Amino acid sequence: MKFDYKPNSIQMGSPIFKRTIHVGLCFTAFVCLILALSFGKSKKTPHSNSNTPSLATTIDMPLPMVDASESNSSASSIIASETDSKPSPAKPVEAIRKSALAKAPETTEEEPKENWQVVKIREGDTLSKIFSRLNISTKDLHEIMTSKPSSKQLASLQPGQTLKLRVNSDRHITGLTLEIAPGDALQVSRYEEGFEVEHKVQPLEKQLAFGKGAIANSLISSGKRAGLDHNIINQMVKIFSWNIDFALDLQPNDTFRVLFEEKLLDGEKVQTGNILAAEIVNDGKKHQAVRYTDTKGITGYFSPDGHGMHQTFLRAPVNFVKISSHFGSRKHPILHRMRQHKGVDYSAPHGTPVQATGDGKVIFVGTRGGYGKTVQLQHGSRYKTLYAHLSGFSRGLRSGAEVKQGQIIGFVGKTGLATGTHLHYEFEADGIVHNPLTVTLPRKNPVAEQQKRHFLAHAKEMLRLLDLHEHKINVAAAD
Ligand SMILES: [Zn+2]
Repeated sequence: MKFDYKPNSIQMGSPIFKRTIHVGLCFTAFVCLILALSFGKSKKTPHSNSNTPSLATTIDMPLPMVDASESNSSASSIIASETDSKPSPAKPVEAIRKSALAKAPETTEEEPKENWQVVKIREGDTLSKIFSRLNISTKDLHEIMTSKPSSKQLASLQPGQTLKLRVNSDRHITGLTLEIAPGDALQVSRYEEGFEVEHKVQPLEKQLAFGKGAIANSLISSGKRAGLDHNIINQMVKIFSWNIDFALDLQPNDTFRVLFEEKLLDGEKVQTGNILAAEIVNDGKKHQAVRYTDTKGITGYFSPDGHGMHQTFLRAPVNFVKISSHFGSRKHPILHRMRQHKGVDYSAPHGTPVQATGDGKVIFVGTRGGYGKTVQLQHGSRYKTLYAHLSGFSRGLRSGAEVKQGQIIGFVGKTGLATGTHLHYEFEADGIVHNPLTVTLPRKNPVAEQQKRHFLAHAKEMLRLLDLHEHKINVAAAD
């Protein structure tokens, strides 16, 4: 089983939002240049201009990243070719140019020629529904669906995909294209003999992009204003989730900078990729993170000195022990009903010390119904752990107290609804209780010693790019 920790508070994937961001990004990039030129002589920093609280521009250059976790096959082939030539961080500054100059993206909507109709797939759409809605021959539909095995993909349309249809005056299909994903399309063409179905895959190019801004109220709104999409904002929240509680900690003068990948199709930005480096200044304290993939192909985010950005958890809150009840469905030993067992029970002798599985803050200590004597801890902004049926708590443990990983917080007992002496342990990520035995725990490990030198050079280069970009704007302003 796999668990994906997407912060579920962020809901910004609407098509309108995406388009707004897309247009906004191009526009902001352009405006940025104009501003850079016009404000050149004034000593204003980009921040101090209230009309443009943030900037997002792009720079073209080969990525020094090696990324084994890439999901897009076409993109990973590009990366693979870079892997051979050793990740070489240093590229001359002159190689950087603003791609905003290179093209003028005026047309954001496709202009259908020869009666191309464009349909955005919505929830519940099927090809036959669309055909009947548009009054297109259903005989064509049948022929298309049976023409090639690959036309099967047309039977499972996904919301957000784009379908383009060309029909003649008799309402017969002459062409059809389903855009499955950027650069990945299914193309149906009509010939004398019948329909031909082709799967067209175009590799995506990558470029570096940069965004920055002041955090006014939330990272989400400030990120949006800076032209960042939900993917990049989500990644930033995750990367810094151990350093910053984005709901509580943000201060009026906080700022962020981020360097990330952008993927292009025919020179047009189609999606964002991974964050390569990011910085948040929160309450005067600078937090920086750099993405790095080690020789084993494991990717993580590290502080510039090579420490993992994320804490990790101990797998179990008690040592030695035997698991007496697993996570999942079971008959409750006291209630004699089937219920979800949302934790793991460790059978251990009465009084066995229970340790905090991670650094955190006590958010509950006391008696809680069937749980009996319970301690709950908050770890960063995304994780919580709970320890129940305790016989007692560590002396002085109170709500709000900070605890360290491995610190004793209580002792095994059988308070609440418990048949025998055991510890009931729950692990919660983003509001969902997971099986602590199988959940993918965040990694903390520092960069391995033998790769430290390579990492440090890489990190230096990434942070230089963050700085450079800002510098570059100022240079342009002075010209
Ligand atoms: Zn239990």
